[in-house]
Amino acid sequence: MTTIAVRNAAMLYPCRSRHEAPLADAWLRIDGAGIVDLGPEPCPADLAGAGRVIDARGKVVLPGFINLHHHFFQSLTRAMPVGLYAYSLDWLRTMYPLWQEIDAEAIEVAARLAASELLLTGATTSVDFAYLYPGGRAELFDREVAAVRSAGLRLHAVRGCTPRLDGALGRDLATIPGFGDIRLEESTADILAASEAAIARHHDRSRHSMCRIGVGPTALPAGDPGLLRDLAALALEAGCDRHIHLQPRPVELEESARLHGCRPTEFLRRVGWLGERSIIAHATKHEAADIRILAESGTGVAHCPSQNMRLGYPAGPIPEMRTAGVRVGIGVDGGASNDGGSYLGELRLAHMIHRLEGVHEGYGPDQWMRASDVLWMATREAAAILGRDDIGRLAPGCAADLVMIDLRQIAYAGALHDPLSAVLFAGDTTVVDTTIVNGAIVVEGGRLANGGESRIVDDANRVAAEMVRRAEARTDRRFESRAAKLLRLCRCG
Ligand SMILES: [Zn+2]
Repeated sequence: MTTIAVRNAAMLYPCRSRHEAPLADAWLRIDGAGIVDLGPEPCPADLAGAGRVIDARGKVVLPGFINLHHHFFQSLTRAMPVGLYAYSLDWLRTMYPLWQEIDAEAIEVAARLAASELLLTGATTSVDFAYLYPGGRAELFDREVAAVRSAGLRLHAVRGCTPRLDGALGRDLATIPGFGDIRLEESTADILAASEAAIARHHDRSRHSMCRIGVGPTALPAGDPGLLRDLAALALEAGCDRHIHLQPRPVELEESARLHGCRPTEFLRRVGWLGERSIIAHATKHEAADIRILAESGTGVAHCPSQNMRLGYPAGPIPEMRTAGVRVGIGVDGGASNDGGSYLGELRLAHMIHRLEGVHEGYGPDQWMRASDVLWMATREAAAILGRDDIGRLAPGCAADLVMIDLRQIAYAGALHDPLSAVLFAGDTTVVDTTIVNGAIVVEGGRLANGGESRIVDDANRVAAEMVRRAEARTDRRFESRAAKLLRLCRCG
């Protein structure tokens, strides 16, 4: 069993309780996958003989962050010129013909890329909402899980699904020549079978589990309450998460009112979708009645401020939800709607965005989220939403998931008055010094410990350009991508 000793950490935030003060000049002992003990220096005498001693002088040590929402497969379609200036539906119209080109190689390359970016920016656990299986290729899910495991990230993989492309979006996409060649929608029977298979193959309920499975449709299937009931029953039986996007969109409001006489949140409550282990992504247009339902049911919300800004949504009633007792975590969202994947970057935005004038009524400096609130949301709150008490804090018996940020750099100079505030306010240097997941050092000195960064970059750029080429050949779309040309100029493709 490998023993790791972290020594002389400038400041260590255990997050064992809500307002716990950080430890100055701290040590921490890891045996195998777990944390054994921690405290202020001097450390116990036997710690000096640990298999590996990490000098954390000048570094702030935090529990590994938990990214609550992502779509790894989108990482190869970041900053696509034709989708940069569009609201959600127009953006989706642009992206779906490209996403149809996701194959086994693309999903592996995208998953390695997204996982690596998260590890380099402080996240040690991530939800991935994998809802697209072009041409019915259900095996893409297994490929992704394997790729993320090899990257060393703790994964909550949602075996998502696309029962239908709703309303105007589906009608518009159907008019694109070649779009119908690759099916994106899955039948109810296929969705249930694939969700069951994913749980059977990958869902590990054990403590310190590196892979747990969730289920859920990407958009509200108001016309198919049976699918939601069946998936919810499956999740309940297996101890899985339930995950869905709900801003909600106009079509979701209209269908829910017409078919069920209520708003989408109330519809989800009625079919048994809400509750603990249920996550609503975004929740940007929730009203007071929706917020009450989320709070009463114990449903979690994944707040993704970059997505809100990128696609022109409201910032979401996040302070109102937190006041009402809704549990809120933070997610970077997919590669194509962020378009970055930096977890620390997302924390900075989540911290700031709600201060904008006019965004929240009666929300002034006395109410603004504190740095400690943001840290809590990214660690303990997110862990609770995922039904876990073994991650999100540095305590004996918990998984050894932690990050170290070196404060001795330009970005933090002059900001040492409060190290946590320095990390969240100052510095757009978002690469951490060290990341440890389940007792394994996966980032060291700001680089992936097992190397391979240039291969990840080369593979991602090559496959991304190839996807554009194939999508343009199949459809009448032009994506204004210069990737193929740049690759030739860089001689890296
Ligand atoms: Zn999303």
